[in-house]
Amino acid sequence: MRDSAETATPGAQPAGNETTVRTGTSPFSYECRGCGRCCFNKRIPLGPYEVLRLARHASLATGEFLRRYVDHEGPWLASRPDGSCVFLVGGCCTVHTDRPFACRVYPLGRWVSARGEETFRELRPHPQSEGRYGQEGTVAGFLERQGAAPYLAAADRLQALFYRLFDAVQGVLPQRPDLPVAVPEAWRTRAVDGDPAFVEWLDADGIAARYCHAQGRPVPETIDAVHDTYIEAIDAWLKKTGGQAT
Ligand code: SF4
Repeated sequence: MRDSAETATPGAQPAGNETTVRTGTSPFSYECRGCGRCCFNKRIPLGPYEVLRLARHASLATGEFLRRYVDHEGPWLASRPDGSCVFLVGGCCTVHTDRPFACRVYPLGRWVSARGEETFRELRPHPQSEGRYGQEGTVAGFLERQGAAPYLAAADRLQALFYRLFDAVQGVLPQRPDLPVAVPEAWRTRAVDGDPAFVEWLDADGIAARYCHAQGRPVPETIDAVHDTYIEAIDAWLKKTGGQAT
């Protein structure tokens, strides 16, 4: 039974204190003071929407972005040898307007159960972080100020696909609660002729283009249109391969 799915959180460990589990209405505020310390030694997970946003920020197609900036073991945002995020320059985030969801909601992580129950937990900050915690607002207000809404919408749409993907490949790997990680791992090991390799699975531009070419449709260009077509293509792939056991 899948009881939990982590839709997007940094690689920091939860604080481990049950009192830090929060809902959207829980009192919470956090002020990032730009010390940059939290951008070291993290595993920032990426979904197709985040890859699209970051790729456009870098004026790249998603395939090239994946080759340059993504650690394929995760998939995580690539890091330099000193542990710093590849987009941290001079202590500043150079992709701030298009930073991933995990960075937006830090120091919170979001969990969504199979029943759709959403909770947030505080992640353990860097011990010398200069961020200021408070109780002045709510978790929902914090997320709104961070521009999380389109990321949440994309994550929720993709979560339904994740479950179907997981069902499609669950015979390959033991069932695991960290679904968004387990599914790509399972996909990567599935070796079905004609299936995209795992890294290609995040290549929304490539998948949307191939899907449109096969159908004689114009290839979309905007982030939202590519993302919509990408989801349509994955949905079609699941139906074609019988992976719709939800
Ligand atoms: S994307 Fe920006 S905010 Fe996120 S870890 Fe990298 S530098 Fe820090």
